Amino acid sequence: MDLGLTGKRALVCASSKGLGLGCARALAEAGVDLVMNARGAEALEAVAEAIRGDFGVEVVTVACDVTTEEGQAKVLEAAGAVDILVNNAGGPPPGMWPDWERDDFIAALDANMLTPIALIKALVPGMMDRGWGRVVNITSQSVKSPIPVLGLSNSARAGLTGYVAGTSRQVAGKGVTINNLLPGIHATDRADSLDKGVADREGISVDEAKAQRCATIPAGRYGTKEEFGAACAFLCSQHAGFIVGQNILLDGGAVNATL
Ligand code: NAP
Repeated sequence: MDLGLTGKRALVCASSKGLGLGCARALAEAGVDLVMNARGAEALEAVAEAIRGDFGVEVVTVACDVTTEEGQAKVLEAAGAVDILVNNAGGPPPGMWPDWERDDFIAALDANMLTPIALIKALVPGMMDRGWGRVVNITSQSVKSPIPVLGLSNSARAGLTGYVAGTSRQVAGKGVTINNLLPGIHATDRADSLDKGVADREGISVDEAKAQRCATIPAGRYGTKEEFGAACAFLCSQHAGFIVGQNILLDGGAVNATL
């Protein structure tokens, strides 16, 4: 399928690895020029060079922490008038509800709620003026089904979800869609570190922890960043203009719900 994206330009935040990288590569494959971001410059430049070689698109890299005001200013300067924004950042650390203080919540809100909101506020007006735009926020299945050790994520991402529900309906009339992709467990560094957390807590091996977590997924495996990227590219495509304010689970069936 031709996604109709050739020559578009996208800002993909937190994209040197994992789900962000999956989105960046799928968009590049569809002919989209990229502004890519991560904190570590070396890994970021390496994947950018691979994308230039594989797909022949333009890739600008911005090494910074996108959850800070300075980082946001840097990515926005490099982004200019982008057509597509993919919001992403590292997830909050695991823990349990009695442990978290105000500062822990502020950090989670900054990273996983207020950063995407700031980038939406900065970039969507230009998309509306030009009559076309796509925003995809990488959130989590924890929005639909809370994960006990990820209460900071459950909370901050629920806040972003509420913001998107309202805002997406206020901008759709100008050709701009905002949607959320909700990953269940995907095979990335983040999943490896959560596997290790389970192994440490339960005194089992990492392989046993992974097998335990796979058993909770009807598909019987972790998702891949390529599958996730393909879903993101479709949501950004010309064919997805009628999908507005949705929360789309990519979880292999893990959330046991009818709707
Ligand atoms: P990952 O494999 O650890 O990759 C994270 C990427 O984001 C890296 O490129 C990292 O590069 C970059 N990054 C992290 N913090 C950043 C920051 N403050 N500023 C700029 N770049 C930053 O993680 P992932 O599995 O792809 O997860 C992506 C998001 O999806 C996270 O919010 C995670 O909580 C959520 N999620 C993941 C899963 C899963 O199973 N994988 C499930 C549900 C939700 P640097 O370290 O160099 O900055």
